[in-house]
Amino acid sequence: MRELESVELPKIEDFYDLNYEKGEIRLRGVKGRAFVLSTQAWAAFRVALSNGFKEEASFFVFQMGYSVGMSYVEQIRKLQGEPKKRLKILLSIAKSYGWGPFSIDGDADNATELIVVAKNCPFCHGRPLSESPVCHFLTGFVNGLIDRLYDGQHKASETKCTRMGGTTCEITITEMPAENQGRMGTEANEHVGEAILGEGSAYSDGRS
Ligand SMILES: [Zn+2]
Repeated sequence: MRELESVELPKIEDFYDLNYEKGEIRLRGVKGRAFVLSTQAWAAFRVALSNGFKEEASFFVFQMGYSVGMSYVEQIRKLQGEPKKRLKILLSIAKSYGWGPFSIDGDADNATELIVVAKNCPFCHGRPLSESPVCHFLTGFVNGLIDRLYDGQHKASETKCTRMGGTTCEITITEMPAENQGRMGTEANEHVGEAILGEGSAYSDGRS
């Protein structure tokens, strides 16, 4: 298991300008704002969703994570380098956001088979033990990162979850064979592009 030690760990001030008077957290380098969401609020959101939408709630939360993952890749699009290097940077940024430390195992050069291990995961923090994995947002997030970084469709599933016992959540990613790759990823990619361009951000590169 390789730790992400080759990437110098950024600090939260490297990404944000905090303006207490305006009640604003501004993202550096892009025209965007951020806000803080507590794990209690997240848990309340998840419980309300799953009460209202039952099994569909997991898919909905997964899709949210997927879009967020892809938008994160967009946010560092000015950074050059191999997907493996950018994946490490993104995971270390996520760590700085309070998402816990990550490590990766497997084929990070091509992402044919890869495991992203999350320690101290905030998405299932404080939740009761469960028989099945519960970090659908994180799973979608990792799936979105990998699809966008490696330019293809992958299947991500949470194969270990802290809520099932143990100390880590693990997202296993496998590359989807070319014949199984449908439009879903492409459409989601387009929507993320629209959402980001709609913010009037630094990403107007002629695609709008
Ligand atoms: Zn989990």
